[in-house]
Amino acid sequence: MAQPQMRHPTESGCPDGFQYMHPVMRRNYGQWKFHDHPRPGVLRHVANSGDEIWTVKAGTQRILDVFTLRKLTEIGDKFADGYVRFTIRSNIEYMVPDEARVEPLIKALEDAGFIVGGTANSVAMISHTQGWLHCDIPGTDASGVVKSMMDELIDEFKNCNMPNRVHITTSCCQINCGGQGDIAINVQHTKPPKINHDLVANVCERPTVVARCPVAAIRPAMVNGKPSLEVDEKKCICCGACFPPCPPMQINDAEETKLAIWVGGNHSNARSKPSFQKLVAAGVPNNPPRWPEATAIVKRILKEYKEGAKDWERINDWIDRIGWPRFFEVTGLPFTKYHIDNWTGARNSLNASTHIRF
Ligand code: SF4
Ligand code: SF4
Repeated sequence: MAQPQMRHPTESGCPDGFQYMHPVMRRNYGQWKFHDHPRPGVLRHVANSGDEIWTVKAGTQRILDVFTLRKLTEIGDKFADGYVRFTIRSNIEYMVPDEARVEPLIKALEDAGFIVGGTANSVAMISHTQGWLHCDIPGTDASGVVKSMMDELIDEFKNCNMPNRVHITTSCCQINCGGQGDIAINVQHTKPPKINHDLVANVCERPTVVARCPVAAIRPAMVNGKPSLEVDEKKCICCGACFPPCPPMQINDAEETKLAIWVGGNHSNARSKPSFQKLVAAGVPNNPPRWPEATAIVKRILKEYKEGAKDWERINDWIDRIGWPRFFEVTGLPFTKYHIDNWTGARNSLNASTHIRF
């Protein structure tokens, strides 16, 4: 009897990464003896077979235009056997199997205006969410914040002068794809949404919006004879979660949407436990196109960390050792009422922060 034919899968999933790997990496997969870090921006991996592969890392913007991408891939074709890969922090990496090819590759990248670095104990490229270009709910332009900050931190990217690696993240709304970071710059709305009642009935599914609010501050209401919504402003925590399903719940505001800076988030459990980031500066002006106030705070934190931390301490390890009062003292950041969490709902669910509770 004929075997039943298996149905072909209808989804493709992500492609097999091996086809894009440099042949030396493919050949030695899982067989690496050691790796070292000959200079900032360059890693050397040595395999048990004796093969070596040199990785050169260059910073790029996350949202790449096609001309820049062509330039980067042409450099890859000419100097690196046509193999590249992107890291999760939007850096491009080229692999070459021969030390003699490292310097010409670095020169080609630098001549084309790219910056080589971002390895080991440097400030890695800031990772960011989409900002105004791709998403429909941002309160700031994450890509713009990154560009302005990295312009000022370029020497820390090119050199390895930090006690340990520093990961910085930016996030352009308060609720979705932001990340943990040693330092995180996140949007902070400070006023409840203003409702455009004329549009609610036409645009929003009211039950969805009501269900979306984490503190049950939204209720259905009739306004001017039309079905609409109302917000209990005493309850509202200004999170912005109602805005994506209902754009008439306008919460972005040129004056009232601010930035907040959080520190000490760490996914890694290499030397200490992973940790959540904690709020250290609130109400920072969301001030395009260069965001000077937020950049000044980030630089201040980095300066104190660089001077005060021991080798290999990440920012969370450093703060754990010196304590939060000392952190606020050395950075000169004011400890304000915004650091005090008096939201009763946080007692059970968010018991993982520096917030003082009553
Ligand atoms: S962080 Fe928020 S606004 Fe920014 S891209 Fe993600 S979902 Fe959109
Ligand atoms: S901003 Fe957040 S807390 Fe306020 S009404 Fe909207 S969903 Fe609720």
